[in-house]
Amino acid sequence: MSKVLIIGAGGVGRVVVHKCAQAKDVFSSITLASRTKSKCDAIAAEIKGYDIATAQVDAGNVPELAKLIRQVEPKLVINVALPYQDLTIMDACLETGVDYLDTANYEPLDTAKFEYSWQWAYHDRLKEKGLMALLGSGFDPGVTNVYTALAAKDYLDEVQEIDIIDANAGSHGQPFATNFNPEINIREVTAECRHWEDNRWVESAALATKRSFDFPDGIGPMNIYRMYHEEMESLVKHIPTIRKAQFWMTFSDNYLKHLEVLQNVGMTRIDEVDYNGQKIVPLQFLKAVLPDPGSLGPLTKGRTCIGVVAKGLKNGEKKQVYIYNICDHEACYKETNSQAISYTTGVPAVTGAMMMLTDKWRGRGVFNMEQFDPAPFLETLGLMGLPTQVIESEEWLHLT
Ligand code: NDP
Repeated sequence: MSKVLIIGAGGVGRVVVHKCAQAKDVFSSITLASRTKSKCDAIAAEIKGYDIATAQVDAGNVPELAKLIRQVEPKLVINVALPYQDLTIMDACLETGVDYLDTANYEPLDTAKFEYSWQWAYHDRLKEKGLMALLGSGFDPGVTNVYTALAAKDYLDEVQEIDIIDANAGSHGQPFATNFNPEINIREVTAECRHWEDNRWVESAALATKRSFDFPDGIGPMNIYRMYHEEMESLVKHIPTIRKAQFWMTFSDNYLKHLEVLQNVGMTRIDEVDYNGQKIVPLQFLKAVLPDPGSLGPLTKGRTCIGVVAKGLKNGEKKQVYIYNICDHEACYKETNSQAISYTTGVPAVTGAMMMLTDKWRGRGVFNMEQFDPAPFLETLGLMGLPTQVIESEEWLHLT
Protein backbone atom coordinates (compact mmCIF):
# COMPACT_ATOMS: atom_id res chain seq x y z
CA MET A 1 0.00 0.00 0.00
CA SER A 2 1.74 3.16 -1.19
CA LYS A 3 1.15 6.83 -1.73
CA VAL A 4 1.96 8.08 -5.20
CA LEU A 5 2.37 11.59 -6.64
CA ILE A 6 1.58 11.90 -10.36
CA ILE A 7 2.87 15.04 -12.11
CA GLY A 8 1.21 16.09 -15.41
CA ALA A 9 -2.53 16.20 -16.08
CA GLY A 10 -2.40 15.59 -19.85
CA GLY A 11 -3.48 12.64 -21.97
CA VAL A 12 -1.04 10.22 -20.35
CA GLY A 13 -1.68 11.59 -16.84
CA ARG A 14 -5.40 10.86 -17.26
CA VAL A 15 -4.71 7.18 -18.06
CA VAL A 16 -2.22 6.88 -15.18
CA VAL A 17 -4.78 8.19 -12.69
CA HIS A 18 -7.53 5.87 -14.01
CA LYS A 19 -5.29 2.80 -13.90
CA CYS A 20 -3.72 3.56 -10.48
CA ALA A 21 -7.24 3.91 -9.09
CA GLN A 22 -8.06 0.43 -10.48
CA ALA A 23 -5.13 -1.04 -8.50
CA LYS A 24 -6.17 0.06 -5.00
CA ASP A 25 -4.22 -2.79 -3.40
CA VAL A 26 -0.96 -1.15 -4.56
CA PHE A 27 -1.85 2.56 -4.67
CA SER A 28 -3.33 3.51 -1.29
CA SER A 29 -3.40 7.25 -2.04
CA ILE A 30 -3.10 9.22 -5.28
CA THR A 31 -2.24 12.91 -5.71
CA LEU A 32 -2.32 14.46 -9.19
CA ALA A 33 -0.42 17.74 -9.61
CA SER A 34 0.09 19.82 -12.73
CA ARG A 35 0.56 23.35 -14.01
CA THR A 36 -3.22 23.88 -14.34
CA LYS A 37 -5.09 22.60 -11.28
CA SER A 38 -8.49 22.67 -13.02
CA LYS A 39 -7.22 19.94 -15.39
CA CYS A 40 -6.28 17.80 -12.38
CA ASP A 41 -9.72 18.38 -10.85
CA ALA A 42 -11.46 17.39 -14.10
CA ILE A 43 -9.55 14.09 -14.21
CA ALA A 44 -10.18 13.46 -10.49
CA ALA A 45 -13.91 13.95 -11.06
CA GLU A 46 -13.91 11.12 -13.65
CA ILE A 47 -12.78 8.57 -11.05
CA LYS A 48 -15.65 7.03 -9.13
CA GLY A 49 -15.10 5.46 -5.72
CA TYR A 50 -11.60 6.85 -5.15
CA ASP A 51 -10.75 10.32 -3.82
CA ILE A 52 -7.89 11.72 -5.88
CA ALA A 53 -6.10 14.68 -4.25
CA THR A 54 -5.05 17.47 -6.64
CA ALA A 55 -2.49 20.28 -6.52
CA GLN A 56 -0.98 23.03 -8.63
CA VAL A 57 2.78 22.85 -9.26
CA ASP A 58 5.36 24.28 -11.62
CA ALA A 59 7.39 21.18 -12.41
CA GLY A 60 10.27 23.35 -13.63
CA ASN A 61 10.73 24.76 -10.11
CA VAL A 62 12.67 22.50 -7.71
CA PRO A 63 11.79 24.27 -4.40
CA GLU A 64 8.07 24.22 -5.35
CA LEU A 65 8.25 20.54 -6.23
CA ALA A 66 10.19 19.67 -3.07
CA LYS A 67 7.61 21.49 -0.94
CA LEU A 68 4.77 19.54 -2.58
CA ILE A 69 6.61 16.21 -2.20
CA ARG A 70 7.19 16.91 1.52
CA GLN A 71 3.46 17.68 1.94
CA VAL A 72 2.25 14.58 0.06
CA GLU A 73 4.97 12.19 1.34
CA PRO A 74 4.71 9.78 -1.62
CA LYS A 75 6.80 6.61 -1.99
CA LEU A 76 7.11 7.34 -5.72
CA VAL A 77 6.79 10.30 -8.10
CA ILE A 78 5.41 9.39 -11.54
CA ASN A 79 6.48 12.08 -14.01
CA VAL A 80 4.08 12.33 -16.96
CA ALA A 81 4.58 16.06 -17.53
CA LEU A 82 6.86 17.04 -20.43
CA PRO A 83 10.44 15.86 -21.06
CA TYR A 84 11.69 19.40 -20.29
CA GLN A 85 10.86 18.85 -16.60
CA ASP A 86 12.64 15.50 -16.07
CA LEU A 87 15.74 16.94 -14.41
CA THR A 88 13.96 19.34 -12.07
CA ILE A 89 11.65 16.54 -10.91
CA MET A 90 14.67 14.23 -10.43
CA ASP A 91 16.40 16.99 -8.43
CA ALA A 92 13.35 17.34 -6.18
CA CYS A 93 13.18 13.56 -5.68
CA LEU A 94 16.87 13.50 -4.73
CA GLU A 95 16.38 16.35 -2.29
CA THR A 96 13.36 14.75 -0.61
CA GLY A 97 14.49 11.11 -0.77
CA VAL A 98 11.74 9.72 -3.03
CA ASP A 99 11.87 7.24 -5.97
CA TYR A 100 11.22 8.50 -9.53
CA LEU A 101 9.68 7.16 -12.77
CA ASP A 102 9.13 8.76 -16.19
CA THR A 103 8.14 7.88 -19.77
CA ALA A 104 10.42 10.06 -21.91
CA ASN A 105 14.05 11.15 -21.71
CA TYR A 106 15.08 14.70 -20.86
CA GLU A 107 15.10 17.21 -23.70
CA PRO A 108 16.46 20.73 -23.42
CA LEU A 109 13.82 23.23 -24.51
CA ASP A 110 16.05 24.97 -27.05
CA THR A 111 17.46 21.91 -28.90
CA ALA A 112 15.62 18.76 -29.97
CA LYS A 113 18.33 16.51 -28.57
CA PHE A 114 17.35 13.07 -27.37
CA GLU A 115 19.87 11.32 -25.15
CA TYR A 116 20.09 9.72 -21.75
CA SER A 117 23.40 11.32 -20.67
CA TRP A 118 21.76 13.97 -18.49
CA GLN A 119 19.62 11.47 -16.61
CA TRP A 120 22.23 8.70 -16.40
CA ALA A 121 24.44 11.33 -14.69
CA TYR A 122 22.16 11.05 -11.61
CA HIS A 123 23.10 7.37 -11.04
CA ASP A 124 25.74 7.79 -8.32
CA ARG A 125 23.83 10.45 -6.41
CA LEU A 126 20.64 8.36 -6.32
CA LYS A 127 22.62 5.23 -5.45
CA GLU A 128 24.29 6.94 -2.49
CA LYS A 129 20.86 7.85 -1.14
CA GLY A 130 19.45 4.36 -1.77
CA LEU A 131 16.93 5.73 -4.29
CA MET A 132 15.74 4.32 -7.61
CA ALA A 133 14.81 6.07 -10.86
CA LEU A 134 13.14 4.06 -13.64
CA LEU A 135 13.49 5.80 -17.01
CA GLY A 136 11.23 5.51 -20.03
CA SER A 137 8.40 3.37 -18.62
CA GLY A 138 5.96 4.09 -21.47
CA PHE A 139 5.42 1.92 -24.56
CA ASP A 140 8.26 3.13 -26.75
CA PRO A 141 10.48 3.66 -24.85
CA GLY A 142 9.33 1.20 -22.23
CA VAL A 143 7.54 -1.94 -23.30
CA THR A 144 9.73 -2.13 -26.43
CA ASN A 145 12.80 -2.30 -24.13
CA VAL A 146 11.12 -5.09 -22.14
CA TYR A 147 10.20 -6.98 -25.33
CA THR A 148 13.86 -6.83 -26.37
CA ALA A 149 14.91 -8.12 -22.93
CA LEU A 150 12.34 -10.94 -23.31
CA ALA A 151 13.78 -11.87 -26.73
CA ALA A 152 17.25 -12.04 -25.14
CA LYS A 153 16.09 -14.04 -22.13
CA ASP A 154 13.59 -16.54 -23.55
CA TYR A 155 13.87 -16.75 -27.34
CA LEU A 156 17.41 -16.08 -28.57
CA ASP A 157 20.86 -17.00 -27.26
CA GLU A 158 22.13 -13.76 -28.78
CA VAL A 159 20.09 -10.80 -30.05
CA GLN A 160 21.93 -9.37 -33.04
CA GLU A 161 19.46 -7.05 -34.77
CA ILE A 162 16.27 -5.30 -33.70
CA ASP A 163 13.60 -3.37 -35.57
CA ILE A 164 11.20 -1.52 -33.31
CA ILE A 165 8.01 -0.91 -35.29
CA ASP A 166 5.27 1.44 -34.12
CA ALA A 167 2.01 1.50 -36.09
CA ASN A 168 -1.00 3.63 -35.49
CA ALA A 169 -3.50 1.92 -37.75
CA GLY A 170 -6.23 4.16 -36.41
CA SER A 171 -7.66 7.43 -37.63
CA HIS A 172 -9.15 10.51 -35.94
CA GLY A 173 -10.61 11.97 -39.13
CA GLN A 174 -8.96 15.40 -38.61
CA PRO A 175 -7.01 17.04 -41.49
CA PHE A 176 -3.91 17.29 -39.27
CA ALA A 177 -3.49 16.50 -35.59
CA THR A 178 -0.96 14.69 -33.43
CA ASN A 179 -1.91 11.88 -31.06
CA PHE A 180 0.17 13.23 -28.20
CA ASN A 181 1.59 16.61 -27.28
CA PRO A 182 2.12 18.25 -30.73
CA GLU A 183 5.30 20.07 -29.71
CA ILE A 184 7.00 16.90 -28.41
CA ASN A 185 5.68 14.82 -31.33
CA ILE A 186 6.85 17.20 -34.08
CA ARG A 187 10.27 17.74 -32.44
CA GLU A 188 10.70 13.96 -32.43
CA VAL A 189 9.62 13.17 -36.00
CA THR A 190 11.51 16.07 -37.61
CA ALA A 191 14.78 15.24 -35.80
CA GLU A 192 17.61 13.82 -37.90
CA CYS A 193 17.35 10.02 -38.17
CA ARG A 194 19.98 7.86 -36.47
CA HIS A 195 20.23 4.09 -36.37
CA TRP A 196 22.83 1.78 -34.82
CA GLU A 197 24.98 -0.30 -37.14
CA ASP A 198 28.38 -1.95 -36.58
CA ASN A 199 28.96 -0.24 -33.23
CA ARG A 200 28.23 3.30 -34.35
CA TRP A 201 25.36 5.68 -35.03
CA VAL A 202 24.60 6.19 -38.72
CA GLU A 203 22.84 9.44 -39.59
CA SER A 204 20.32 10.05 -42.37
CA ALA A 205 17.60 12.59 -43.14
CA ALA A 206 14.41 12.47 -41.06
CA LEU A 207 11.85 9.94 -42.41
CA ALA A 208 13.90 9.53 -45.63
CA THR A 209 13.89 5.70 -45.51
CA LYS A 210 10.49 4.19 -46.25
CA ARG A 211 9.53 0.50 -46.22
CA SER A 212 6.33 -1.53 -46.03
CA PHE A 213 5.57 -3.87 -43.14
CA ASP A 214 2.78 -6.44 -43.05
CA PHE A 215 1.20 -6.01 -39.61
CA PRO A 216 -0.50 -9.02 -37.96
CA ASP A 217 -4.07 -9.66 -36.82
CA GLY A 218 -5.75 -8.29 -39.92
CA ILE A 219 -4.08 -4.86 -39.88
CA GLY A 220 -2.11 -5.66 -43.06
CA PRO A 221 0.65 -3.78 -44.90
CA MET A 222 1.42 -0.16 -44.02
CA ASN A 223 4.24 2.23 -44.92
CA ILE A 224 6.82 2.64 -42.15
CA TYR A 225 9.48 5.37 -41.94
CA ARG A 226 12.83 5.13 -40.17
CA MET A 227 13.51 7.69 -37.43
CA TYR A 228 15.57 8.07 -34.25
CA HIS A 229 14.04 6.92 -31.00
CA GLU A 230 15.61 7.09 -27.56
CA GLU A 231 15.27 3.45 -26.47
CA MET A 232 17.88 2.39 -29.03
CA GLU A 233 20.54 4.24 -27.00
CA SER A 234 19.94 2.30 -23.79
CA LEU A 235 19.29 -1.01 -25.56
CA VAL A 236 22.61 -1.07 -27.42
CA LYS A 237 24.37 -0.14 -24.17
CA HIS A 238 22.74 -2.79 -21.99
CA ILE A 239 22.46 -5.57 -24.63
CA PRO A 240 25.82 -5.12 -26.39
CA THR A 241 25.32 -8.10 -28.77
CA ILE A 242 22.91 -5.87 -30.74
CA ARG A 243 24.87 -4.81 -33.80
CA LYS A 244 21.97 -3.20 -35.67
CA ALA A 245 19.01 -1.29 -34.21
CA GLN A 246 16.38 0.64 -36.17
CA PHE A 247 13.13 2.34 -35.22
CA TRP A 248 10.19 2.65 -37.61
CA MET A 249 6.85 4.44 -37.38
CA THR A 250 3.80 4.58 -39.64
CA PHE A 251 2.61 7.95 -40.94
CA SER A 252 -0.28 8.61 -43.27
CA ASP A 253 0.42 10.40 -46.55
CA ASN A 254 -1.84 13.17 -45.27
CA TYR A 255 0.22 13.65 -42.07
CA LEU A 256 3.45 13.75 -44.07
CA LYS A 257 2.04 16.25 -46.59
CA HIS A 258 1.01 18.65 -43.82
CA LEU A 259 4.29 18.17 -41.95
CA GLU A 260 6.33 18.95 -45.06
CA VAL A 261 4.45 22.19 -45.69
CA LEU A 262 4.67 23.23 -42.01
CA GLN A 263 8.43 22.58 -42.06
CA ASN A 264 8.91 24.43 -45.35
CA VAL A 265 7.14 27.53 -44.09
CA GLY A 266 9.06 27.52 -40.80
CA MET A 267 6.20 26.59 -38.47
CA THR A 268 8.14 23.73 -36.86
CA ARG A 269 11.05 25.96 -35.78
CA ILE A 270 11.87 25.84 -32.07
CA ASP A 271 13.89 29.05 -31.92
CA GLU A 272 12.30 32.39 -31.04
CA VAL A 273 11.12 34.75 -33.80
CA ASP A 274 10.02 38.33 -33.46
CA TYR A 275 6.30 38.88 -34.11
CA ASN A 276 4.99 42.44 -33.68
CA GLY A 277 7.64 43.13 -31.05
CA GLN A 278 6.88 39.92 -29.20
CA LYS A 279 9.07 36.80 -29.11
CA ILE A 280 7.26 33.64 -30.14
CA VAL A 281 8.41 30.08 -30.86
CA PRO A 282 6.63 28.96 -34.08
CA LEU A 283 6.20 25.32 -32.92
CA GLN A 284 4.64 26.47 -29.63
CA PHE A 285 2.28 28.72 -31.58
CA LEU A 286 1.41 25.81 -33.89
CA LYS A 287 0.58 23.68 -30.82
CA ALA A 288 -1.85 26.38 -29.72
CA VAL A 289 -3.82 26.21 -32.99
CA LEU A 290 -3.77 22.42 -33.55
CA PRO A 291 -6.46 20.17 -32.06
CA ASP A 292 -5.79 19.24 -28.43
CA PRO A 293 -4.77 15.54 -28.54
CA GLY A 294 -7.14 15.02 -25.59
CA SER A 295 -10.06 16.02 -27.81
CA LEU A 296 -9.27 13.20 -30.28
CA GLY A 297 -10.29 10.44 -27.86
CA PRO A 298 -13.94 10.16 -28.89
CA LEU A 299 -13.03 10.56 -32.60
CA THR A 300 -10.28 7.96 -32.92
CA LYS A 301 -11.08 4.53 -34.32
CA GLY A 302 -8.85 1.58 -35.22
CA ARG A 303 -5.90 -0.05 -33.52
CA THR A 304 -2.24 0.45 -32.65
CA CYS A 305 0.36 -2.28 -33.13
CA ILE A 306 3.73 -1.68 -31.48
CA GLY A 307 6.43 -4.29 -31.23
CA VAL A 308 9.97 -5.48 -31.75
CA VAL A 309 11.34 -7.79 -34.43
CA ALA A 310 14.45 -9.34 -32.85
CA LYS A 311 16.84 -11.43 -34.91
CA GLY A 312 19.69 -13.56 -33.68
CA LEU A 313 20.86 -17.09 -33.01
CA LYS A 314 19.28 -19.96 -31.09
CA ASN A 315 21.32 -23.15 -30.71
CA GLY A 316 23.60 -21.86 -33.48
CA GLU A 317 20.73 -21.43 -35.96
CA LYS A 318 19.18 -18.19 -37.26
CA LYS A 319 15.96 -17.32 -35.48
CA GLN A 320 13.59 -14.34 -35.43
CA VAL A 321 10.95 -13.40 -32.89
CA TYR A 322 8.32 -10.68 -33.29
CA ILE A 323 6.90 -9.54 -29.95
CA TYR A 324 4.04 -7.05 -30.09
CA ASN A 325 0.83 -5.67 -28.65
CA ILE A 326 -2.36 -4.62 -30.37
CA CYS A 327 -4.55 -2.02 -28.71
CA ASP A 328 -7.95 -0.69 -29.76
CA HIS A 329 -8.55 3.08 -29.62
CA GLU A 330 -12.28 2.87 -28.92
CA ALA A 331 -11.89 0.28 -26.13
CA CYS A 332 -9.28 2.53 -24.47
CA TYR A 333 -11.60 5.51 -24.68
CA LYS A 334 -14.47 3.56 -23.17
CA GLU A 335 -12.30 2.55 -20.23
CA THR A 336 -10.26 5.72 -19.54
CA ASN A 337 -11.60 8.59 -21.72
CA SER A 338 -8.33 8.49 -23.71
CA GLN A 339 -7.27 7.04 -27.06
CA ALA A 340 -4.72 4.24 -27.42
CA ILE A 341 -1.63 6.46 -27.73
CA SER A 342 -2.12 7.83 -24.21
CA TYR A 343 -3.32 4.42 -22.99
CA THR A 344 -0.31 2.51 -24.30
CA THR A 345 1.94 5.03 -22.51
CA GLY A 346 0.00 5.34 -19.25
CA VAL A 347 -0.55 1.63 -18.62
CA PRO A 348 3.19 0.76 -18.77
CA ALA A 349 3.92 3.75 -16.50
CA VAL A 350 1.53 2.32 -13.90
CA THR A 351 2.94 -1.19 -14.43
CA GLY A 352 6.49 0.11 -13.90
CA ALA A 353 5.28 1.88 -10.74
CA MET A 354 3.76 -1.40 -9.51
CA MET A 355 7.08 -3.20 -10.14
CA MET A 356 8.88 -0.59 -8.01
CA LEU A 357 6.33 -0.37 -5.22
CA THR A 358 6.12 -4.15 -4.81
CA ASP A 359 9.93 -4.49 -5.03
CA LYS A 360 9.67 -6.87 -8.02
CA TRP A 361 12.01 -4.43 -9.71
CA ARG A 362 14.42 -2.83 -7.27
CA GLY A 363 17.82 -1.23 -7.53
CA ARG A 364 19.80 1.78 -6.36
CA GLY A 365 20.48 4.42 -8.99
CA VAL A 366 19.13 5.08 -12.49
CA PHE A 367 17.75 2.19 -14.56
CA ASN A 368 16.28 1.53 -17.99
CA MET A 369 13.56 -1.05 -18.44
CA GLU A 370 15.68 -3.77 -20.09
CA GLN A 371 17.85 -4.04 -16.99
CA PHE A 372 15.16 -5.95 -15.06
CA ASP A 373 13.44 -9.34 -15.44
CA PRO A 374 10.78 -8.91 -18.16
CA ALA A 375 8.51 -11.66 -16.78
CA PRO A 376 6.72 -9.94 -13.85
CA PHE A 377 6.35 -6.71 -15.82
CA LEU A 378 4.77 -8.37 -18.88
CA GLU A 379 2.48 -10.51 -16.73
CA THR A 380 1.15 -7.42 -14.92
CA LEU A 381 1.02 -5.39 -18.15
CA GLY A 382 -1.27 -8.03 -19.68
CA LEU A 383 -3.55 -7.99 -16.64
CA MET A 384 -3.63 -4.18 -16.82
CA GLY A 385 -4.86 -4.23 -20.45
CA LEU A 386 -1.87 -4.64 -22.79
CA PRO A 387 -1.31 -8.35 -23.55
CA THR A 388 1.83 -9.55 -25.32
CA GLN A 389 1.79 -11.62 -28.51
CA VAL A 390 4.70 -13.53 -30.02
CA ILE A 391 5.42 -14.87 -33.53
CA GLU A 392 8.54 -17.02 -33.92
CA SER A 393 10.13 -17.88 -37.26
CA GLU A 394 13.32 -19.32 -38.78
CA GLU A 395 13.41 -16.60 -41.49
CA TRP A 396 15.03 -13.24 -40.87
CA LEU A 397 13.06 -10.22 -42.10
CA HIS A 398 15.40 -7.60 -43.58
CA LEU A 399 13.93 -4.10 -43.77
CA THR A 400 17.26 -2.59 -44.91
P1 NDP B 1 0.25 16.52 -22.60
O1 NDP B 1 0.79 17.74 -23.23
O2 NDP B 1 -1.11 16.05 -22.89
O3 NDP B 1 0.38 16.64 -21.02
C1 NDP B 1 1.49 17.20 -20.36
C2 NDP B 1 1.00 17.74 -19.04
O4 NDP B 1 2.14 18.27 -18.35
C3 NDP B 1 -0.02 18.88 -19.19
O5 NDP B 1 -1.06 18.67 -18.26
C4 NDP B 1 0.78 20.11 -18.82
O6 NDP B 1 0.08 21.13 -18.18
C5 NDP B 1 1.77 19.53 -17.82
N1 NDP B 1 2.92 20.42 -17.72
C6 NDP B 1 3.64 20.96 -18.73
N2 NDP B 1 4.58 21.78 -18.22
C7 NDP B 1 4.43 21.74 -16.88
C8 NDP B 1 5.09 22.39 -15.82
N3 NDP B 1 6.13 23.22 -16.01
N4 NDP B 1 4.65 22.15 -14.56
C9 NDP B 1 3.62 21.32 -14.32
N5 NDP B 1 2.96 20.68 -15.29
C10 NDP B 1 3.37 20.89 -16.56
O7 NDP B 1 1.33 15.35 -22.93
P2 NDP B 1 1.07 13.79 -22.93
O8 NDP B 1 0.21 13.43 -21.77
O9 NDP B 1 0.70 13.37 -24.29
O10 NDP B 1 2.56 13.25 -22.65
C11 NDP B 1 3.08 13.19 -21.35
C12 NDP B 1 4.49 12.59 -21.40
O11 NDP B 1 4.44 11.29 -21.96
C13 NDP B 1 5.48 13.39 -22.28
O12 NDP B 1 6.72 13.44 -21.62
C14 NDP B 1 5.60 12.55 -23.53
O13 NDP B 1 6.83 12.72 -24.16
C15 NDP B 1 5.48 11.16 -22.93
N6 NDP B 1 5.08 10.13 -23.90
C16 NDP B 1 5.76 8.94 -23.89
C17 NDP B 1 5.42 7.94 -24.77
C18 NDP B 1 6.08 6.60 -24.66
O14 NDP B 1 5.59 5.63 -25.27
N7 NDP B 1 7.16 6.43 -23.94
C19 NDP B 1 4.39 8.13 -25.80
C20 NDP B 1 3.65 9.38 -25.67
C21 NDP B 1 4.03 10.35 -24.76
P3 NDP B 1 -0.97 22.09 -18.97
O15 NDP B 1 -2.13 21.19 -19.19
O16 NDP B 1 -1.22 23.20 -18.06
O17 NDP B 1 -0.27 22.47 -20.25
